[in-house]
Amino acid sequence: MRLALINLAYVGASALFILGLKGLSHPRTAVRGNLMGATGMLIAIVATLINQRIVSFEVILAGMIVGGSAGALMATKIQMTAMPQMVALLNGFGGIASALVAGAALFESHADGAALGLQGTVSTAASGLIGAVTLTGSLIAFAKLQEVMSGNPVLFPGQHAINAFLGATCLGLAVWLCVDPSHDLAYWLLVGAAGILGVLLTIPIGGADMPVVISLLNSYSGVAAAATGFVLNNNMLIIAGSLVGASGLILTQIMCKAMNRSLANVLFGGVGAVVPGAKASADSVYAGKVKAASAEEIGMVLSAARRVVIVPGYGMAVSQAQHAVKSLAALLESRGITVDFAIHPVAGRMPGHMNVLLAEADVSYDALKDMDQSNPLFPETDVSIVIGANDVVNPVARTDPSSPIAGMPILDVDKSRTVVVIKRSLSPGFAGIPNPLFAADNTLMFFSDGKKAVNDLIQAVKEN
Ligand code: NDP
Repeated sequence: MRLALINLAYVGASALFILGLKGLSHPRTAVRGNLMGATGMLIAIVATLINQRIVSFEVILAGMIVGGSAGALMATKIQMTAMPQMVALLNGFGGIASALVAGAALFESHADGAALGLQGTVSTAASGLIGAVTLTGSLIAFAKLQEVMSGNPVLFPGQHAINAFLGATCLGLAVWLCVDPSHDLAYWLLVGAAGILGVLLTIPIGGADMPVVISLLNSYSGVAAAATGFVLNNNMLIIAGSLVGASGLILTQIMCKAMNRSLANVLFGGVGAVVPGAKASADSVYAGKVKAASAEEIGMVLSAARRVVIVPGYGMAVSQAQHAVKSLAALLESRGITVDFAIHPVAGRMPGHMNVLLAEADVSYDALKDMDQSNPLFPETDVSIVIGANDVVNPVARTDPSSPIAGMPILDVDKSRTVVVIKRSLSPGFAGIPNPLFAADNTLMFFSDGKKAVNDLIQAVKEN
């Protein structure tokens, strides 16, 4: 009876997870989706805690208090721009938790004198392998994003051969564990080797590609949890882990597609290293063609506009300009100007980065247009204001098949009557390449920090 109730609770929790994921697919329903997921997790935890196999609650309670407090503190203190590295840490903790629980189950099976069986040993090996790769890979991703270590790809001769050797060693240890589960040693050696593999697989990837890697590691943490679910025969863990595994993989694929890159290119391409000849090609693109403008000049252009589209990018996040941007949009609207926001799916450094920042500034969801909605708007737009975006508005993606961003769908701001680009210099964006948009006839460059520039524009429009 108790087991039936627990399983019923697990079914309810699973339904809430699935509905929660669906809710997260749109900004309007995202908060509700998040709450549904959290409620599902609460039900799952309570149902698990009434399981007869739990011997004492003291340690569990202490763990929940320590972990819950640390999580709450991190969540309230974290800056929006540091969210990717926080997610990296959480994935890593999830991975190692799965590996440790599977290791404990192996240990317990020895203590009880009950063999784990083939399902148990294969799942234990999978959990140890994937969980350890997830932990160390996530720690490297964290270190690169937090700038504890350099974000440059670390490449050295024989790297692939060493990785292949380590991968084979892990498989050998996994087979040893399955053939002879009576020794713990094979398992802990496997966890150690997989931990080194996680480091070596992640260091060759550039810091700016870390969000894709984090999404992939998120998927791995789910697979590790599902494997541990098979070790413990816990349906909830199997379902929740599979959902995380599948959704992480889907997100990874969406991010790769939006950048028009294969996952293999992200993982093994070493992108993010300095592009050779970038300086020389920048000189040839920009020399004598870039027009810098002042806040007053741009203020006049804006005052004469009827439709304005704001295109935010990574620089808006860095300069924390979202509140100023919202004020500028409100000011222009109060003058009868139609204002929309064009959001590229990989603008910034994490999926939904711009949506989250603009939501924080209370910009209405209706004003946020995705790429398909905004591209038809540009030919009708008087002024596009590009704030801290670069690659996602680089027309080279349409014209140069040899460019690293060739084929990446971009926002066609160059088709607007006037383009105002706010950034501090002519430095390239993530892809490391020049942007001919900055030298186009209809572009005015406003060289400044994003937030300061927008505040100056507000002042200039008010004075017009
Ligand atoms: P980019 O990285 O192309 O460019 C950002 C620009 O912001 C820079 O050129 C920089 O110029 C400017 N900038 C930086 N700080 C400031 C500041 N304080 N004020 C004003 N401007 C500033 O950004 P995009 O958003 O256009 O493109 C995102 C890139 O990241 C794409 O190439 C995408 O593929 C990649 N990416 C995105 C992921 C995602 O999930 N969103 C994940 C992984 C990669 P300057 O220094 O001159 O000011």
